[in-house]
Amino acid sequence: MAKAKKKASKGKRAVGDSGAAHLVIVESPAKAKTINKFLGKDYQVEASMGHVRDLPKSRMGVDLEKDFTPEYIISPKNIKTAKRLKASAAGKKSVYLATDPDREGEAISWHLAHIFREQDSKIDIKRVEFHEITQEAVARAFERPRDIGMNLVNAQQARRILDRIVGYQLSPLLWKKVGRGLSAGRVQSVALRFIVDREREIRKFVPQEYWTLDAKFSPQEGDHQEKIFLSRLDRIGSEKPVFPNQAEVEKIKQELSVLSFEVSKIDKTERRRRPQAPYTTSKLQQESYTRIGFSSVNTMRIAQKLYEGVELGNEGSVGLITYMRTDSVNIAPTARQEAIQFIGEKFGKDYLPSTPPVYKSRKGAQEAHEAIRPTSVYRTPDSVKEYLADDELKLYELIWRKFVASQMVPAIDEVTAIVILGGDKFWFKTTGTRNIFPGFTAAFGEIKTEKEVSKESGEEEALEAGEVPVLEVGQKLNLHELFADQHFTKPPARFNDASLVKLLEEKGIGRPSTYAPTISTLLNRDYCEKKGGALIPTELGEMITDLLVEYFPKVLEAEFTALMEEGLDEVEEGTREWKKVLYDFYGPFNELLIKAREEMKNFKREPVPTEFKCDICGKQLLIKFGRFGKFLACSGFPDCKYTRSIPTGFFCPEPGCGGELVKRKAKGRRAFYGCSNYPQCTYTVQQLPKKGENSEPSSDPTSHPT
Ligand SMILES: [Zn+2]
Ligand SMILES: [Zn+2]
Repeated sequence: MAKAKKKASKGKRAVGDSGAAHLVIVESPAKAKTINKFLGKDYQVEASMGHVRDLPKSRMGVDLEKDFTPEYIISPKNIKTAKRLKASAAGKKSVYLATDPDREGEAISWHLAHIFREQDSKIDIKRVEFHEITQEAVARAFERPRDIGMNLVNAQQARRILDRIVGYQLSPLLWKKVGRGLSAGRVQSVALRFIVDREREIRKFVPQEYWTLDAKFSPQEGDHQEKIFLSRLDRIGSEKPVFPNQAEVEKIKQELSVLSFEVSKIDKTERRRRPQAPYTTSKLQQESYTRIGFSSVNTMRIAQKLYEGVELGNEGSVGLITYMRTDSVNIAPTARQEAIQFIGEKFGKDYLPSTPPVYKSRKGAQEAHEAIRPTSVYRTPDSVKEYLADDELKLYELIWRKFVASQMVPAIDEVTAIVILGGDKFWFKTTGTRNIFPGFTAAFGEIKTEKEVSKESGEEEALEAGEVPVLEVGQKLNLHELFADQHFTKPPARFNDASLVKLLEEKGIGRPSTYAPTISTLLNRDYCEKKGGALIPTELGEMITDLLVEYFPKVLEAEFTALMEEGLDEVEEGTREWKKVLYDFYGPFNELLIKAREEMKNFKREPVPTEFKCDICGKQLLIKFGRFGKFLACSGFPDCKYTRSIPTGFFCPEPGCGGELVKRKAKGRRAFYGCSNYPQCTYTVQQLPKKGENSEPSSDPTSHPT
């Protein structure tokens, strides 16, 4: 239902075409539809469909000789939109630019203003900013329009130009030295380096064997004799026990089996677990991945929908959450007030703190912004569920619960630690946790973790924290059983969307608007692939990383990239000149570039021979690199242009087909495996099967897909 609506609003503008005194411009038809309802007949709302004016695609469009002067054009695909918008602006009293409240949105507004002023230099242009698309927020913004914020615009220009220079100067170098179609990006290459480094750590990792020793005890006398509980050997004398092999642990087991045991110490403490801040973009992407299994890209796509507006029956379209690109944990006072009222009514006074919790944003975060929260806490997940698709509801519920919990009191647990002494030096320990007061977990605790976050290496598995029996100090215990368990230290976990975004934020690389696009670019360029959620570098990704690390060490440094991000933040704050950021970057970058042009190994001139023969002319096939990674090309090139993909050793499972599965990749899309008999056979699969029954490469020739 939602889909059909979207389509309808895309072609036709959502609004009364003429007669309106004012024009309002937003980015998307969905946002236009929501906002139009709040503004009434005097306003005509149009969608710009994103950026209308931008750097050209076909050339760099930045004059490096002339102070990095950008060349902005209206691209052919946007000419119609620009015409439509200009026509809408003609004769209007004023134009309100209501694009999103961040650098990107500000830049879109600035470019639009430029286009309108070209047509009519005296046109009245106003910028309006709101962080949620609700009646009150939009009305407030229109009461207080402002000028376009040039600091924001310049921060966006600086980023755009930085990325453009890197992309359009590094990529041709890679084409020349490695293979056509390859590309490198500033932030994306640093992210790829993390993934490659981690993969190599994992390869190098040698698992270490270790053993743990647990005991089952029960009280010798008293009311709880039937109560058997688990306890782990925690110390021998003052030392942590170390059992590198079974022989060592068996020795201690023997010693223990004849000892008597008693309760030596019982510690009861109250532990308060505080709620966390409401979501920033980074935290939302992390928890959406670990708790409801959404990728970063998916999370942002769904969040955008919730922000831009959802049709709520009689109420019409309304934005359900605040703007989803933010690194701030601030909350508007009205939203806080509403939350306090809701918590009081729904959970009771005990769940309300005497003073609302204060959360601190990341250093340098946009203080004018807000955390991601529901636009009204009274729109409970239950009350809107009939209007939302399943995944929209899941994400909304996550955001809603996190926000409500953030305004509640801590949860209180009672932690009991029991220390048991065997003989004169064997100390066992059991810890049990019991919740005394649910606090914020009444709102947030129930969301189950669907995906286990992989454990860090070497982390010991905690003993099942079962209920701890009522015991007394000095009480004698029966030993029922001793059991030794073998373990191996684990390699560091591969990155997934959640852990990569977490790291990018910690290292200060990228910003709320760039986390998800960075990951999708790496996947679309086949520099890494996803297996069961884990990000694994491809051979091509490793090769590119090695080249860039060798020839552009500084550019690939996390610290340097973080410094550039800070530079951009300073431009936004108005404490730094934007061209200065470009000069600071371009000097060192250009030096490395000149050196790399001369010195970088040319893989094209040193193709690797193979035992495969050309199907057309019979000459030897060579390994070359392209944007799909390695492929085979005829050594007779340029006379013979035969190419094919590297044999995978897997055959098409379609009955009677006999084709081979070959890696395929279209620009801007993720690599997949398809049948070599395409287009006769259209079988495709995202990943190769685990082990092939037949590993003989097919003799069937296949053209390398282009
Ligand atoms: Zn040939
Ligand atoms: Zn087939």
